[in-house]
Amino acid sequence: MGCVLGIDIGGTNIKAGLFASTGELLEVKKISTGSIVGEEAFSEVVCGLESLVTSEGFSSDDVEAIGLDVPGPVDDQGRVGMLPNIELDPEGLQSAIKAAFPAAALAFENDANAAALGELWQGSAKGVGSFVMITLGTGVGGGVVVGGRLVSGAFGAGGEIGHITVCEDEELVCGCGRRGCLEQYASAKGIVRLYGRECAARGVEGVPVEHETDTLSVFEACRSGDEAARAAIATMSDRLGYALAQISCVIDPSCYLIGGGVAGGFDLFATGLAASFREYCIAPCASARILPCSLGNEAGMYGAAYAALQQRVA
Ligand SMILES: [Zn+2]
Repeated sequence: MGCVLGIDIGGTNIKAGLFASTGELLEVKKISTGSIVGEEAFSEVVCGLESLVTSEGFSSDDVEAIGLDVPGPVDDQGRVGMLPNIELDPEGLQSAIKAAFPAAALAFENDANAAALGELWQGSAKGVGSFVMITLGTGVGGGVVVGGRLVSGAFGAGGEIGHITVCEDEELVCGCGRRGCLEQYASAKGIVRLYGRECAARGVEGVPVEHETDTLSVFEACRSGDEAARAAIATMSDRLGYALAQISCVIDPSCYLIGGGVAGGFDLFATGLAASFREYCIAPCASARILPCSLGNEAGMYGAAYAALQQRVA
């Protein structure tokens, strides 16, 4: 039996998962890297991967596929675009990995898309042909899977759910330069901002938030009966439900998966979200399910491995 590597590339370290080709996660290893540029860094990564593979009794030749997920755009040909948040030379790393694992198929995948593929392979969407994953974190990302395949779009913007316009009256400008995007209401930053707005409208101080993405404090406040927090979360659920209803008109997925740090408050907004989705959607789509993701921050690792396995099959 062969094995597969799924590698999640972050700013200061990479997290590599070793999988059986059936999808069972065998072992995870963190390798601290700093910037992944130049031969020294590449060989550090390769050495880490080799020791992970041998720790489970495999040899380099047993590795059938290696997937890497990166925080940035990857086009249909697997080419990595601009990566503003990390220092990585994708071609260089690819060559180094290819030299060390000659039998492996290699694939790069965008991190949001990789997370969706991971859930499809071994998570909440296992066995589901069409679904949309929404990652609620610092921003709002998405992954669209139709008929078991990711839809990345002609211009790579497929799944940019965070920039669906959900409010025409918004005065603040979104990161994309427009106004009233879903991200302004359903991201961690958006929820903290909505809470501030609700507190101001009520003339109350509210609970202290530690930073601009501190949804944890807002969720805690809601759990202890804070009215402003409850209202902020209600607005978030309403706008998110509205966006999902629009998506249903085009994709009509059988389910939506909610992931990212904000999904930690899923129990607080699940009921309101389902209700607002049903309020805005057309009747045939009303039974689409809205579920939390199940692989947490390992989804990207799973999905990268799966993408590489697919490459091998193709
Ligand atoms: Zn936007």
